[in-house]
Amino acid sequence: MAEITESAVRNVLATVIDPVTGRNVVALDMVSGIATRGGHVAVTLDVDPARGPALEPLRQACEQAVRAMPGVLSATVVMTAERAAPPPPPPPSARPAGPGRAGPGHTGHGHGAAPGGGRIDVPGVKHIIAVASGKGGVGKSTTAVNLALGLAALGVRTGLLDADIYGPSMPRMLSVKEKPESTDGKQLKPIERYGLRTMSIGYIVAEDTPMIWRGPMVSSALEQMLRDVQWGDLDVLVVDMPPGTGDAQLTLAQRVALSGAVIVSTPQDIALVDARKGLNMFRKVAVPVLGVVENMSYFLCPKCGERSEIFGHGGAHEEADKLGVPFLGEIPLHLDIRTTSDSGHPIVVAKPDSPHAQIYKEIAARVWNQLAANERGPRPAPRIVTR
Ligand code: ADP
Repeated sequence: MAEITESAVRNVLATVIDPVTGRNVVALDMVSGIATRGGHVAVTLDVDPARGPALEPLRQACEQAVRAMPGVLSATVVMTAERAAPPPPPPPSARPAGPGRAGPGHTGHGHGAAPGGGRIDVPGVKHIIAVASGKGGVGKSTTAVNLALGLAALGVRTGLLDADIYGPSMPRMLSVKEKPESTDGKQLKPIERYGLRTMSIGYIVAEDTPMIWRGPMVSSALEQMLRDVQWGDLDVLVVDMPPGTGDAQLTLAQRVALSGAVIVSTPQDIALVDARKGLNMFRKVAVPVLGVVENMSYFLCPKCGERSEIFGHGGAHEEADKLGVPFLGEIPLHLDIRTTSDSGHPIVVAKPDSPHAQIYKEIAARVWNQLAANERGPRPAPRIVTR
């Protein structure tokens, strides 16, 4: 991949216009530092302190413009009110562009890292995997919970982080009413459920409290849930991502030291289009896609057992083949899956011998095998990241 040059970054920044003055940030002499390392770019904008907070949209626009450059893995733009401040260093551990980066002993735990910069790693956790979907309502959280329980059933030490801060579902799906405690006043203890260590913003904030999150708040809330929770030693931490492929999701995909991502889709065409967006998002930031799960794949009548392919099942499998990513399995649309989740006893623990629980366990085994294979290597040649 071609090295990103300072002048290329400057040219891109010259397209970002300050709406107040109508001039671009380079012409305004705001850019006081540019640093690049690998595909990671950091920029310092020197701003008038009086305009500071009002310039946040401009800062974000700069970040987006740099992030959209081919070959850029991450872009961090910070504002300072001091001339000649050095740009923040790019993240210390640039992610190798291929699977298999995680494993025991990876470092980079960034306590004290500047907000908005640095990679989030959790010591003691071997693999962090994201469960994501291109849009809401496809069963991402249901899949994340049952996948985590499936992993635990295989004997894998598993945690579950509900990062869907717009609509946390773990309190309901795991029937958690208690609040997390802290032993040292600094870190929270995860809440143990069905053999999983779990955390959710919903454990802390009441479900009916309206939460309005702005981009930077999303990042810092998630960062705290990763860093300030005593996850302890885990083989896998499953992160239930916020639905969609917006900025918050991209930041998360970029900043969290992910070993891989699982994309959940329904068979409808429209959902597959969204799934493709999710897939591309992870590819863009060089996170290996562990595979695609087709949820609500077919309807199994709970009365007669007849199978109906309401949404034309199989689309996700075909799409996964086309895109060259593994297909992890198909989960039927079944009342038991909904009622067990909604009553706080997901199907893998409520009906461990049911065919549905079996499907989740098989998916978990495929995910685990892939993580293990990626860890063992041989490492593939670095993947070229294209957009
Ligand atoms: P998302 O996280 O994508 O928004 P959820 O996991 O919250 O979606 O699922 C949305 C609704 O669909 C929930 O009520 C859930 O119980 C139900 N659901 C999810 N997957 C299935 C399935 N395979 N069969 C039946 N109901 C399902």
